[in-house]
Amino acid sequence: MAKFKEFESTIIGGDDSSQDPASDQAATADVPFVRLKPRKAQPFFGRHPWVLSQGVDEVEKRASNGDVVQLLTDKGKFIAYGILNFHSRIRVRLYSFDHSKPITDEFWKEKIEAALALRKQINYMDEEGGCRLISSEADGLSGLIVDRYGKHIVVQITALAIHVRLDMFIGFLQELLEPESISIRSESGMAKAEGIEIEPGVIAGTFPEEGIVLKENDTLFGIDLTQGQKTGYYLDQSENRAAAAKYMKDRTVLDMFSYTGGFGITAAKIGGAKEVTCVDGSGFAIKGAEKNAERNGLTNVTCVEADCFDQLKERAEAGEKYGAVILDPPKFTRTRRNIDEALKAYYFVNRQAVRLLEPGGILVTCSCSGNVTAEDFRMMLLGVAQKTGRDIQVLEQRGASPDHPVSVTCMENEYLKCYICCVR
Ligand code: SAH
Repeated sequence: MAKFKEFESTIIGGDDSSQDPASDQAATADVPFVRLKPRKAQPFFGRHPWVLSQGVDEVEKRASNGDVVQLLTDKGKFIAYGILNFHSRIRVRLYSFDHSKPITDEFWKEKIEAALALRKQINYMDEEGGCRLISSEADGLSGLIVDRYGKHIVVQITALAIHVRLDMFIGFLQELLEPESISIRSESGMAKAEGIEIEPGVIAGTFPEEGIVLKENDTLFGIDLTQGQKTGYYLDQSENRAAAAKYMKDRTVLDMFSYTGGFGITAAKIGGAKEVTCVDGSGFAIKGAEKNAERNGLTNVTCVEADCFDQLKERAEAGEKYGAVILDPPKFTRTRRNIDEALKAYYFVNRQAVRLLEPGGILVTCSCSGNVTAEDFRMMLLGVAQKTGRDIQVLEQRGASPDHPVSVTCMENEYLKCYICCVR
């Protein structure tokens, strides 16, 4: 927000920032209010959807958890409609910033339709493939994530506001998509923070016991929703896998933190890689990678269940060399507080990867920690370049695929970085 204020005052000639922006809209009588403390309104005029408890001065007595409320400035002027949760640090999640558009069933349906229309527009509705249909804040639906795997839908709920309306959302998804099944997944940390209990499992239709097969970039991947991580597969990397594959021709590739082989198997299948080694610490993931190699008729993929930190070090010390190394580790930090430790871990894995690369080798290096900024990540790479004495040329700076959009009003939803580099 500090940066925005700077931008506003120098570029767009904004108001005196010691004051809240003015609203001339009166409160609506029939919606309970949540009134902000003085000088707390600015982010919400910028349409940020999270009203933290410390900014709230008063909640009208008749409002209870899960209710629609209207957010007011300290002077009692209307800002937005949202949903209240006393249990969460995010006291109100905002969904409508338009006084004339209160939160009704019709309002939600329109939001869902807009999200689906976007996926259609960007050609992500191919029935054999998968995509993120609804991406929480980025689609104006804070707390709701909906993924599609072929004709199967997986819903992840990260807010009480959505949880108490789940039947309605499921009804809309059934009506608009006619899926073969709908499953619910939960993330325990989020559920706890929001004070909700989520029972995971299939809630409508049937999901085949043997799993399903998804086609992504002309490559086949098995999806097992009962055990898979995330909502079954890392859909956010789909375009990065294809982009990385373009650099893999005739190279020996080491795919670290491979999960079920997303990057490595795409490199072998469409990128023409000579040989691929996938490494992951999860036995489930590695078995999946083996099956995926088989599914795609590949005989040049080796899958190893092992710790990637150890593997990187051991392979580097043994003097192994690769034409490409892919690093797609899990989130190393969930908070900005542990940022130094996270950057050390990124530095470690990237340094080992650079040691493993022959001159002119390709490094595909990712970070899905939202708290690590692109700038932090580049500084980490600079450290690696300095320490190893190698030049690192960034060829492509990429983010998540467009079915995982980023809303500029809530930059917290920008998390994925994927850099494709040439290491001299
Ligand atoms: N690249 C994958 C997604 C990777 S997600 C794809 O394209 O689909 C991160 C992976 O890192 C997970 O599969 C997890 O099992 C694995 N992982 C986490 N810590 C690990 C460690 N220390 N050693 C090896 N694998 C690890």
